[in-house]
Amino acid sequence: MKAMRLHQPGLIADEPLVMEETRLPTPGPGQIRLRVQMCGVCHTDLHTVEGELSLPDLPLTPGHQVVGVVDSLGEGVSRHQPGDRAGVAWLNWTCGQCFECRSGLENLCSQVRFTGLHEDGGYAEYLVVDERFAFALPDIFSDAEAAPLLCAGITFTPAGWIIPLALGHLQPGGTLAINAIHLSPIPEIPYHLIYGERTLRSVANFTRHDAEEFLRLASEIPIRSSVEIYPLEKANTVLQRLKASQIRGVAVLQI
Ligand SMILES: [Zn+2]
Ligand SMILES: [Zn+2]
Repeated sequence: MKAMRLHQPGLIADEPLVMEETRLPTPGPGQIRLRVQMCGVCHTDLHTVEGELSLPDLPLTPGHQVVGVVDSLGEGVSRHQPGDRAGVAWLNWTCGQCFECRSGLENLCSQVRFTGLHEDGGYAEYLVVDERFAFALPDIFSDAEAAPLLCAGITFTPAGWIIPLALGHLQPGGTLAINAIHLSPIPEIPYHLIYGERTLRSVANFTRHDAEEFLRLASEIPIRSSVEIYPLEKANTVLQRLKASQIRGVAVLQI
């Protein structure tokens, strides 16, 4: 199968992703294989490709806003059938055993694995995933519209300088939540900006319950994604455009 692979992180201007022919993955017990239709491009992918996140084993295939069709089932799969449409997001696997998992905070699992970082993601023709981490998608959304909905991190700016400015607009007692996996340094914050019981906190990842609840709400509202569609082999170009803020809405790779 074809995949855009990262062997060595580097500046996106140097086009670190390489189109390759790789082995078609086989779903293990409890896993499904998806034939990928669309994969959204996220700022986190840029952090991955440029090496700003600590990277596990290389090479890897980025992409965690994946919409596909189930084409093969591993042993014991019960939630999906071949031909079903499903989405895969950033949260790829959690242990289910640790204190955080047992407390409903699997987004903070100490052994958490992420799609497109610890496991190969959707910049490819196929991927395999634990069936419990693949979501049914509301019919109201096309594949391209559904892809960006699968990422909790598509909007918050990875720029620390904005935090004192945002705090300056916060009501007493209010909370400023930062949903960014990587942030440039936060400037010194004068105490009066947090006085008045203002709270500054981060939000990390999401739980499966969050994702299911969000997808239901998104279809009820309904949220409409504004997307630009590109072919898979243009992934480097798309990430260059993302870095230069030249994407209107969200870029989606058509596989
Ligand atoms: Zn993302
Ligand atoms: Zn856990």
